[in-house]
Amino acid sequence: MSDAARPDAARPGAARPFGARPIYFDYAATTPVDARVAAYMAECLTRDGTFGNPGSRSHAEGERAHEAVEAARRQVAAAVGAAPADVVWTSGATEANNLAIFGVALQARTRGRHIITCKTEHKAVLDPCRELERRGWSVTYLAPSARGRLDPARLAAALRPDTVLVSVMHVNNEIGVIQDVAGLATLVARHGTARMHVDAAQSVGKCPIDFAGAGIDLMSLSAHKAYGPKGAGALLVSAARGVELEPLQYGGGQERSLRSGTVATHQVVGMGAAFALAAADAAPESAESLRLAALRERLWDGIRVLGATFRNGEPSDCVPQLLNVSFGDVEGESLLAAVQDELAVSTGSACTSSLGEPSYVLRALGRDERLAEASLRLSFGRFSTAADVDHAIMVIGHAVLRLRSIGGLCATAN
Ligand SMILES: *Cc1c(COP(=O)(O)O)cnc(C)c1O
Repeated sequence: MSDAARPDAARPGAARPFGARPIYFDYAATTPVDARVAAYMAECLTRDGTFGNPGSRSHAEGERAHEAVEAARRQVAAAVGAAPADVVWTSGATEANNLAIFGVALQARTRGRHIITCKTEHKAVLDPCRELERRGWSVTYLAPSARGRLDPARLAAALRPDTVLVSVMHVNNEIGVIQDVAGLATLVARHGTARMHVDAAQSVGKCPIDFAGAGIDLMSLSAHKAYGPKGAGALLVSAARGVELEPLQYGGGQERSLRSGTVATHQVVGMGAAFALAAADAAPESAESLRLAALRERLWDGIRVLGATFRNGEPSDCVPQLLNVSFGDVEGESLLAAVQDELAVSTGSACTSSLGEPSYVLRALGRDERLAEASLRLSFGRFSTAADVDHAIMVIGHAVLRLRSIGGLCATAN
C-alpha cells in the first residue's frame, strides 16, 4: 500500500489529525487480513460462490468446495514443508495446541505420563499442560538461557523413559527468538519414546519452516498472524512418522476423524492464500525480511539513545518483525498510557497483558519485575513504513523523557 493511501501515515513532526487511529505496532497479536485473501474468502460464502459443504461429494457444489479445501491444504503444506495429508484444520493455534497435547497424552497414557515444555511457551501450551498436571500427569517446565533459547543439553537431561511429549515453540510471541526446533526434534527422536510438538503460530512468513525435513511430529499453525483470518488454523500431524492422537471431539469424522465438524471453506481458503503469499517472505534474505530488519534496527537506534534501555532477545536469534525493549527508570503502566493514543503496542502478549502481570517470558529471561513491567513489544509487518517507525521513536522518546523527569521529582519528594 502506498504511504499516501494510508489514513494513519503520520510524518514525524507533522500534526496527526485529531481522532486518528493509533499506528499499528501489534502485528504479533494479529495482522490485518490481506485484501487479496479477503477477496478469495468472500468467494466462498454466497450463493454464486463456493458455498457447498466440502463433505457433500454427491453434487457439484460440494465437490467444488472440496476442491477449494484441498487446494488450500496443498498451499498450507507447501508453505511449511509438510505433506498435504499432514494438515488437520482447526479453529486456530490454540485448538491445535490443545489437540496435540491432550491428543498425545491421552493416546499414550498407558505408556507414560511425563511431558516436557518450556517456561516461555504461549499460554495455549502452558495451560493444557497445567490441566494435565491436575489430572495426574507430570510436567517439566524448562528454563531458557538469558538469550531465550533452550539449551539442548537441558532437554536431553529432562527426557525420561516415561516422557511421551516434548512441546517447544518455534518463534516466541513476545521477544521473537527462534528456537532450533530441528535440533531439539533430533534429540527427541533419538530418545525414542516421545513425540515432538512445535507451536509455530508466529513463524509463517517470518522464518523458514521445514516440518518434514526437521523430523517434527506435530506442529500448530495459525492464519491470523500471517495476514489470514482469525478463527482458522491447523495442526500438522505427520502421517509419515505414524503419529497417533486421540481426538478431542466426535462427530462427522472429518479431518481423519481427528477434528469432526464441517470444514469452514472460506476460513481454510483464506489461510491457504495467506500462507502462499507469506511463504515468499520467510527467508532471512528475502526483500521483505531485509526491509523489516532495517525497520527494526532503525527503531532500536532511535530508542537506545534514550539510555537505560535494554533489548530483549539478540537480533541474530530473532525474527525481524519484532523489537522488545525494557525501559529503566519508568513505570510500565504509565509508559503504556503515555504512548497509547499514538501507538497500538503491547506490553507483552495480548493474552497475558490483560492480566496486568509482568511478562513471565521476560521474567524467565532474568529481567527483574520492574524492568519486565516497563517493556514494550513493538511488532510490525507488511504495511509498516519507515515513517511509522520514525513516529514511534518520537512518541516513545517524549514519553520516556517526560516520565523520567516526573519520576525524578517524585523520588526527590519521597
Ligand atoms: C497467537 C498465538 C497462539 C494462538 O493462536 P490462535 O490462532 O489465536 O488460537 C498460540 N501460540 C502462539 C505462539 C501465538 O503467538
